[in-house]
Order: sequence, then structure tokens, then C-alpha cells
Amino acid sequence: MAIELTQSYKLANQLYDVSLKADVLVIGGGPSGAWAAITATQNGASVILVDKGYCGTSGATAPSGSGVWYIQPDKEKREEAMNSREALGGYLSERKWMKRVLDRTYENMNQLEKWGYPFPVDENGVAHKRSLQGPEYMRLMRRKLNKAKITILDHSPALELLYDSHGVAGAAGINEQTSQTWSVQASSIVIASGGCAFLSKALGCNVLTGDGYLLASEAGADFSGMEFSNAYAITPKFSSITKTAFYNWASFTYEDGSIIEGAGSQRGRSVIAKKLQEGQKVFAQLVKVKDDLDLQKWMRIAQPNFFVQFDRMGINPFEDRFEVTLRLEGTVRGTGGIRIVDETCATSVPGLFAAGDAATREMICGGFTGGGSYNAAWAISSGYWSGEAAAKYASSFNRDKRDRALTRRHVIGINEHSIGKDFLDAAEVTKRVQAEVTPFEKNLFRTEEILTPSLLRLNSLWNESKTSLQENQGNLLRVRESVAMLATSRWMYTTALERRETRGMHKRLDYPVLDENQHYRLITSGLDEIKVKPTTLYQNT
Ligand SMILES: Cc1cc2nc3c(=O)[nH]c(=O)nc-3n(C[C@H](O)[C@H](O)[C@H](O)COP(=O)(O)OP(=O)(O)OC[C@H]3O[C@@H](n4cnc5c(N)ncnc54)[C@H](O)[C@@H]3O)c2cc1C
Repeated sequence: MAIELTQSYKLANQLYDVSLKADVLVIGGGPSGAWAAITATQNGASVILVDKGYCGTSGATAPSGSGVWYIQPDKEKREEAMNSREALGGYLSERKWMKRVLDRTYENMNQLEKWGYPFPVDENGVAHKRSLQGPEYMRLMRRKLNKAKITILDHSPALELLYDSHGVAGAAGINEQTSQTWSVQASSIVIASGGCAFLSKALGCNVLTGDGYLLASEAGADFSGMEFSNAYAITPKFSSITKTAFYNWASFTYEDGSIIEGAGSQRGRSVIAKKLQEGQKVFAQLVKVKDDLDLQKWMRIAQPNFFVQFDRMGINPFEDRFEVTLRLEGTVRGTGGIRIVDETCATSVPGLFAAGDAATREMICGGFTGGGSYNAAWAISSGYWSGEAAAKYASSFNRDKRDRALTRRHVIGINEHSIGKDFLDAAEVTKRVQAEVTPFEKNLFRTEEILTPSLLRLNSLWNESKTSLQENQGNLLRVRESVAMLATSRWMYTTALERRETRGMHKRLDYPVLDENQHYRLITSGLDEIKVKPTTLYQNT
């Protein structure tokens, strides 16, 4: 009887079922990856894009509607747009980057219109480009990827990066549907695999487990803003739809109908968290729109999927109260991620670029959530810049070097040999990580007293995983996801302990005020031993 080789064994021994080559490899096919891939081909590169799901339907944007930071090139309007969140973000954003993103987003949204995106048009014939419907947007992007003859590997998560003497040289992974292993040789790589929501079941986020962070860190890249990774979103208790913008029109009440003072969507989420922590039920109602039928109509057009959940339950959210909870969205609507070292969205590893939620968004959002319009604009702009730069990097390679001998590095979870009977299971690692990152009392209301033992548990889980985490009946993807979430949680908490102040969405109960002396970014590096160091902001002009 023939012995079937495990995926782990095949990857560890580089026995790939499929081996491909391209100038540029894009990992992740959300908006940032799609923009990166299209722009790279426009700059003359051959491109392969791999996605964990089906590109066009996977990730945070695909099932949702996105507000976009699309502002007319009018001095006053742009000034107002930049001003609007500087204080909320703890003054860690930079005008120079904001201006670039506003310009690039404006250009690319206009490009989307030319490509046929059906923006709503008002009675004067003016198209409104401040939001995008995820399904339509991503369907259009998939069409453009196909038209550009980009090879797409769907259901094909990247599980590790590959290297040669020049540095990063590609990636390897599996196809979840065929169980085949694949490798892609490339001269440059764009990591566009989204953020990390720790499998909290927020809509569109369960593919977002920090995989790209792990790959980048294994290659030697570092991170910025990992303390700003504790986003919790409001959601009806019975649903996974975490669309929060409309809760700006909500009132929040106790079970008996009395108002919860201070509760709110933008500044009062902590109050909601406190009530939930106390075991109270929290109810919402979009009462401030109750009598405005025009606005209700607009809301339904702007975010249809927000209403599907209520319509199915027979709830009118403008008239009825419904129970809500908070769901962790981690870095998807936080702002931390892979550090960007220059305007091309390069990382600190030559040939490795980062885009979208995989990258830090501090330059435009500072330390306060990038959701609401900034993240979508960043995905568009950073996707464009990283794709352009990755193509240029690839073309600068001597063509003789195209046949490169790819090697791998030992990474946690991909083992040549089976480890033994008492192995650690991916589900167990995931459960233990979630136990540290989900509770408000640890991740939202932070104190040294609580974070330190939590981090010690995570660090010891890391050491345990190094020796005993392994594939169990073909769950290699789950294994690598659990490693990625574990690593992300350690970067988060190590950095959170270093920022001894309250800034942006990082709340330290033991240091409750913003400290002018800590007006810097925190750069986090390392896998086994994590180091955090402050760095100054870019020129703020
Ligand atoms: C409910 C919700 C509403 C939001 N609304 C707004 C809004 O109104 N405005 C705004 O600015 N932002 C909003 N955001 C944030 C916004 O959706 C994200 O910033 C945006 O999707 C980021 O794009 P991305 O391409 O970087 O990541 P994603 O869209 O998340 O795509 C990441 C892709 O990478 C793939 N992937 C992951 N791991 C791997 C791997 N190992 N190998 C290969 N592929 C992989 C995934 O399958 C996915 O397709 C919202 C987020 C949520 C969850």
C-alpha cells in the first residue's frame, strides 16, 4: 500500500506538486492585493496572485460596504479631512502620507469609475464616490485581474516564504481544495494578506489570522503600531456583521430601556464594554434616524448587508431595540502591522513589500482605528505603490538569476518528521491565544498587572509550540494560522507593555493620560525574542 505523504512532509522536503514562476508574487487578493497585482502588470511584470479563499469574495472588504477617504482636491476640504482624526489618532499620523493617500485614492477611485464601477449618481449627474459595495468592487477587481492575465491561485494559502542567496525568492503553500502543495518563484513579493481578527467570527475576517505578519517576520521584517490592535466592533448579538458606522445614530440602553450614559459608537465603546463585563445586557436602536425616511433609504442603499440581518429576524432597527455585543477585530480595524520603510511600501527586507491591513496604517490614522474610510483608501494606495515598486524591483534583477535555487527556513508547524504522541494541536493553541486576547479586561482595559502574566503565558505557549505543534490529519493551514495568531498576540502585548500611556485606541488604566514624551512610534521585531524600540515620525509637513 502506498504511503500518502503529509502536506507538511512535502513542504519540508520541497516536494511541490505545482511549481510556478513570476516576476512578482502577491499574497492575498483583497483590494490591496488586487491593486498591487494590476499595477505590477501595468509596470511590465508577470504576476501570480495567491489567495486563501476565492479571490474576489474573501477578506474584510468583499462581503461589506466600505466608506472610502475620497476627498475632492479642494484645499479646505482636504485640510478638514486631515484634521478630523489627528487628535483621535494620538497625533501619530503624518500629513505627508495623508496627502499622498488622498491624491492616490482620488486618482484610483476615478479610475474605478472608468473601469465601470456603478457609482450612484445624484440628480445633477454627479457620481458619489465615498463608498464602495464590497461584492461589486471585488467582482470588478477580479475581472480586471483576469483581463490583465494575472495567474490567480484560489483556495491556496501561502504558508511559508522561500529564499535564495539574494533574499526572498518566493513562497510555498497548499491548495485547500486539491490538497496539492505549490511553490512560486518570484523576484519580489507583496504581502497583502489582511490583518488579524483572531478567528472572532466577524464577517469576512475569519481568513484574517495574521499569516502575512508571520511570513514577514520569519523573513526578518519588523512591525509598527502593534499596540494599536485592539479594535472591538459593535454587532447585534445574533449576528457576525460588525458594521459600526450606523451606530453613530444609535441610542444604547439597559434591558429596562433606560439610557446607558456615555455609551456610543466612536468614543463610548468602552462604556459598552464595561456594561458587558458587568454582565449587563446592552441594547441599541437607531433611534436618531427614526423620523428621517430619506436617510433610512440612503442607509439601506449604502450598506444593504447591514439590514439583511434585521430583515431576516423581523426587526426594524429604527423602531425596535436589539441586543448588541462587541466582537474583536484586532488589527483589521486597528492600525498596527508590518513596518513600511519608504514611500514604495517596502519593508525592511529587500524585495518584500506590504500593502493594506497587513501593513501599518499609523501614517494616516495614527493610533485610532483605520476603519470608516482610511483603511479602504490605504488598501487602494498602498496596493498601487507596492505593486509599482515590486515590478520595478523585479525588473532590476539580472535575467540570468531567474532560475534560482529556492531554499526554505525552518518554521514552526511545518515538520518533516512527526513529533510524537503528545503533540500540541492547532485548535488548542488557538483557544489559548483567544483566551488572552478576547477578554476586554486584558486587551481593551490594559494594565501592567494583567498584561504581564498574559504575555508570560503566551511566551510559554510559543516555546511549547516550537517543539510540539504539528499537523494533525491535514490541518496544516490551521496549524500555521495558530502560529500566526500566537506570534501576533505576543507582538501586541509586548508592545502594549512598552507604551506606558493612553494614546489612540491603546488604553492603559495604570497610565490613563497621553504623555507628550511618548510621541513616537514603537517598532517591534523578532520571533523568539521580541524587542521593542521607539522611533521618530517621518517629516510632518
Ligand atoms: C465589517 C467591516 C467593515 C469595514 N468597513 C470599512 C469602511 O467602511 N471603510 C474602511 O476604510 N475600512 C473598512 N473596513 C476595513 C477594510 O475592510 C480593510 O481595511 C480592507 O479590507 C483591507 O484590504 P486588504 O486587501 O488589505 O485585506 P482584506 O480585504 O482583508 O483581504 C485579505 C486577503 O488575503 C487573503 N489571505 C489571508 N491570508 C492569506 C494567506 N496565508 N495566503 C494567501 N491569501 C491570504 C484573504 O483570503 C483575503 O482575500 C471594514 C472591515 C470590516 C471587517
